[in-house]
Amino acid sequence: MKVGIVGGGAAGFFAAITAKENYPDATVVIFEKSLKPLSKVKISGGGRCNVTNGCDSIDELCKAYPRGVRLLKKAFHIFNNKHTIKWFESRHVPLVVQSDNCVFPASQDSQSIIDCFFGEVKRLGIEIELGHGVKEIKQIENQLALVFLKDEFQPEIFDKIIVTTGGSPKKDGLEWLESLGHKIENPVPSLFTFNIPSDPITELMGIVLENALVSIQGTKIKSEGPLLITHWGMSGPAILKLSSYGARVLNEMNYNFNVQVNWVYEQNNDLVINYMNAIINEHSNKLLSNIRPYSLPERLWLHLLDKSELSPKKKWGELGKKGLNKLISVLTNDVYAVRGKSTFKEEFVTCGGVSLQSIDHNTLQSKVCKNLYFAGEVLDIDAITGGYNLQAAWTTGFIAGKLNSNSLSENAKLAKKL
Ligand SMILES: Cc1cc2nc3c(=O)[nH]c(=O)nc-3n(C[C@H](O)[C@H](O)[C@H](O)COP(=O)(O)OP(=O)(O)OC[C@H]3O[C@@H](n4cnc5c(N)ncnc54)[C@H](O)[C@@H]3O)c2cc1C
Repeated sequence: MKVGIVGGGAAGFFAAITAKENYPDATVVIFEKSLKPLSKVKISGGGRCNVTNGCDSIDELCKAYPRGVRLLKKAFHIFNNKHTIKWFESRHVPLVVQSDNCVFPASQDSQSIIDCFFGEVKRLGIEIELGHGVKEIKQIENQLALVFLKDEFQPEIFDKIIVTTGGSPKKDGLEWLESLGHKIENPVPSLFTFNIPSDPITELMGIVLENALVSIQGTKIKSEGPLLITHWGMSGPAILKLSSYGARVLNEMNYNFNVQVNWVYEQNNDLVINYMNAIINEHSNKLLSNIRPYSLPERLWLHLLDKSELSPKKKWGELGKKGLNKLISVLTNDVYAVRGKSTFKEEFVTCGGVSLQSIDHNTLQSKVCKNLYFAGEVLDIDAITGGYNLQAAWTTGFIAGKLNSNSLSENAKLAKKL
């Protein structure tokens, strides 16, 4: 059997290694467009490579995927984060789980992951062809031919092909897969920070709030977690998650929208009112500037007082009903006009890609092109930050690499289409 892997990234290497381990007699060849395979793995996690997340259950893991969760829920029963940890550790790559559950190689260097993959490729006899970009897949009866971007390379015929070309920023880049009959979900960026130009909040750059609730005004999209104020706007896990949950909607809004911030991490307004009244009763003679509710950072508290049009020199006892209401409104529903987005540490993923409707969820084989499989970010699967995107690459690479045939009912459907 001849197996061709299109794309030498995380999913491609994982699929190739799994295929060769399952079919030792097969010829497995990775075709990589660039001269640098695994280049994203190299720069991932700031060069440390956040390989997976240490969360405890499949349910917990699934929460990290705004797109692809139905497919992954099944897939994680076959290969999940615990399998990833075992996979690397059994191949002499010790890993460490940080307090935030992000898992890194103990060396704190992505090169350990790359060395492991190259070691496996050599041990198993997997071939790698660099500079071999694929532009077309042709069906020839039960086999598939790869046609390369450079005319100097003759097309090559395979029994099975796994496409692992990663996220494509534009739909045009997926035309070669669409022309085979696959549905394509329009690609849009995910995992970005918010630009809030010319707003005084940016003067508070560097302030981190341990826990904030954030939402997109006029939608039901919300998230929570640490929020970082930057010189261009807002970042941090709460914002990155919000960008991921709202990737498609925010693209439709052309990245012009209002973000609502609840600075006190309390949704129950009555509890906030009680909390504030308790301060008024206990500290009525103290200045607003001297008692910071919810231990808000000082500079942020002064900014929020200013936004509430309250002098920091005012006493808590002088706040009055109107002042209290205004303050509570700013504390729990502070609105900022977002105008554009920025990339987070050059780290982003693509929402969209080959539609999961076009592939068999059990095998990751195409429903419209027999013997063609998909894995990694080329699929309409993506996650929030925390090692989950690479986990999706490992899981789908592992399942596609098994090269299983579709179920009997799927085969019948396939036969009808061919
Ligand atoms: C800066 C950065 C840091 C990140 N850090 C993390 C992290 O720490 N943890 C985490 O979980 N996720 C991280 N991510 C996301 C993660 O890297 C990706 O989700 C993951 O690499 C996807 O793997 P993949 O194999 O599907 O695609 P890729 O890794 O993008 O690999 C695809 C490969 O296919 C090749 N290719 C493309 N088209 C063709 C073609 N037509 N023919 C042949 N070859 C082709 C490409 O050159 C590339 O080498 C990060 C992303 C970025 C950008």
